[in-house]
Amino acid sequence: MKPDIQQHVEDGAIFYVSHSGGKDSQAMYSMLIDIVPHDRIVVVHADLGEVEWTGVQGHIKTTVSHDLNVVRASKTLLSMVESRFATRPEVPSWPSAAHRQCTSDLKRGPIEKFIRNDMKSKGATLAVNCMGLRAEESSSRAKKIKWALNKTLSRAGRTVHNWLPIHDWSIDQVWSQISKAGQEPFWAYKTNERLSCVFCIMGSDNDLIHGAKENPELAQKYIDLERRTGYSMFHKRSLESVVGKYIKIVAEAA
Ligand code: SF4
Repeated sequence: MKPDIQQHVEDGAIFYVSHSGGKDSQAMYSMLIDIVPHDRIVVVHADLGEVEWTGVQGHIKTTVSHDLNVVRASKTLLSMVESRFATRPEVPSWPSAAHRQCTSDLKRGPIEKFIRNDMKSKGATLAVNCMGLRAEESSSRAKKIKWALNKTLSRAGRTVHNWLPIHDWSIDQVWSQISKAGQEPFWAYKTNERLSCVFCIMGSDNDLIHGAKENPELAQKYIDLERRTGYSMFHKRSLESVVGKYIKIVAEAA
């Protein structure tokens, strides 16, 4: 179904823009501000705590002309793994591409909670939840529907649609949109392919190694947790096996 954005604007919808600080969010925002009135846009960032790249929130603030709303889950990725191991040591403790509890609990959940509360406080009944996912990124993202009712947030008297405004964009379009806006992407893109958690369960070796070189203490925490739980961060290999030769790793601190 093709979204009728102009109609939603006329009907008074609020456009919640999820911004991770990554290139796709940056390009999406810069495109949206040309088609959605300024006072209808609300920018939200899910803070991932210590596992997020330092400085990413500052980067968002310098590239948007809206206030940045920062939401946070009550847990972090590392505490989630710890607690899963404590309660169910017999099953792998880390999230996986097939079971991305990290995305749902650390990003989607807190952002949806924010949208619900913000709409309530404004007496709003119509909203659009904008996310910068692109089909090109993975086969699972390719299957996502560009415009769909958000069944978690919608109920009688409140309608929220999920919208993926740049779902069909190529990576070249993303870079070109950022450059057209006269902006630069977050500095880590000089080496990184993607950005979000410094160590993503689906990260490429390139990004994991760069993440470890720039954040060796955080890498050590992940590796300590792999050792402690006996489960590796990735299905068949550990973070230690990917980054171990690039940083100094010590035996787990007591
Ligand atoms: S960036 Fe990767 S590890 Fe972090 S929440 Fe998203 S999917 Fe999970």
